[in-house]
Amino acid sequence: MSNNNPQTQQWQTLSSDHHLAPFSDYKQLKEKGPRIITKAQGVHLWDSEGHKVLDGMAGLWCVAVGYGREELVQAAANQMRELPYYNLFFQTAHPPALELARAVVDVAPEGMSHVFFTGSGSEGNDTVLRLVRHYWALQGKPQKKTIISRVNGYHGSTVAGASLGGMSGMHEQGDLPIPGIVHIAQPYWYGEGGDLSPDAFGVWAANQLEEKILELGVDQVGAFIAEPIQGAGGVIIPPDTYWPRIKEILAKYDILFVADEVICGFGRTGEWFGSDYYGLQPDLMTIAKGLTSGYVPMGGVIVRDRVAKVISEGGDFNHGFTYSGHPVAAAVGLANLRLLHDENIIGRVKAETAPYLQKRLRELADHPLVGEVRGLGMLGAIELVKDKATRQRYEGQGVGMICRQFCFDNGLIMRAVGDTMIIAPPLVINREEIDELVTKARMCLDLTLNAVHG
Ligand SMILES: *Cc1c(COP(=O)(O)O)cnc(C)c1O
Repeated sequence: MSNNNPQTQQWQTLSSDHHLAPFSDYKQLKEKGPRIITKAQGVHLWDSEGHKVLDGMAGLWCVAVGYGREELVQAAANQMRELPYYNLFFQTAHPPALELARAVVDVAPEGMSHVFFTGSGSEGNDTVLRLVRHYWALQGKPQKKTIISRVNGYHGSTVAGASLGGMSGMHEQGDLPIPGIVHIAQPYWYGEGGDLSPDAFGVWAANQLEEKILELGVDQVGAFIAEPIQGAGGVIIPPDTYWPRIKEILAKYDILFVADEVICGFGRTGEWFGSDYYGLQPDLMTIAKGLTSGYVPMGGVIVRDRVAKVISEGGDFNHGFTYSGHPVAAAVGLANLRLLHDENIIGRVKAETAPYLQKRLRELADHPLVGEVRGLGMLGAIELVKDKATRQRYEGQGVGMICRQFCFDNGLIMRAVGDTMIIAPPLVINREEIDELVTKARMCLDLTLNAVHG
């Protein structure tokens, strides 16, 4: 990359001398140095070399209202002046956390009227594990503690989050999962459906839940956790038969259902929650990311009334974080929800921009490198393959990373999950910007095809 700015080199030196980066290939990072992002506005980022980039990933799925919203800046500044910090432990509270709890409940599914706040999505899922086990113990069933999750699900990177998640690379480092967490197959038809039709595969994948419950014994199982749509796993949209069958199984057995709404929540599907989109009735919902549009860190768990009742009548709950319900984060969350309401951002996604994005994205399906384009709301995935008919991949060539690099160099952030390219732009992306995204994506697919066929 060109060096127009001498500071770029200095920052890259700081990176290799002093910074241990999250989720990064350290060898690569040292060789090339990180790209330094210095500012952002709307759906665009700028790097330290002055390049403008369309952020097709909304940061890490979080910047729902786009960058540079002065309303959020003002909310943070005002709250910092008024009360920059206080905690919610030991019989105290403060207005922003309480008002945000109310505002979140107002948009949550019917019958979910309590929120436990955390500092992140991972902490939210740690809280889920504690809540599930505490809930059953309070009812005299402490052995109902196993949580069923899914291979290739993502639930964060703390010990509980990574254990609940089904990422083998994460499990390998740190002797995970911790005991009491088991994984079933994911509903990834394109990658794993073989000769089954999507519908038949969806039923098969859902039935894995029942088989696991019966194998373990329902008296041992506390909960099932799943993302309505897997995000980090590769924007995996289950076949239409999957959630209805899961709902039948959940109705049959006395276990809790946890929807990890960290990505799907706050409008990404065109509904407030992925659970609304699929008509799910979770007992617990993990939230983060879009809650504050990523302007400040915050997460939480929304809890169904029958669970909240047991917990709140259960005496001490020995769990919490210094920054649970942090007043500045809560104030930003409130301002963020106000923007989502006042500007009808989710309504616009559903009625206008998501249908347009999905239509334009699917035009890429004719590209020789593309095996499938799928998407829903402001989520999309493009499967890169060698053979469209057999879904055969380019073995060992890292086509996804090649494509990601071309995007990176040509002004578009698209993420690669193996050879699946994924997007999740800010919810406020408009038609022109969607055109820009699709045009750049096609150009980068062309460049990638050239590179692999030389
Ligand atoms: C990002 C994510 C998390 C973890 O959130 P952090 O804020 O990074 O801890 C959990 N679940 C899902 C579905 C996520 O996408």
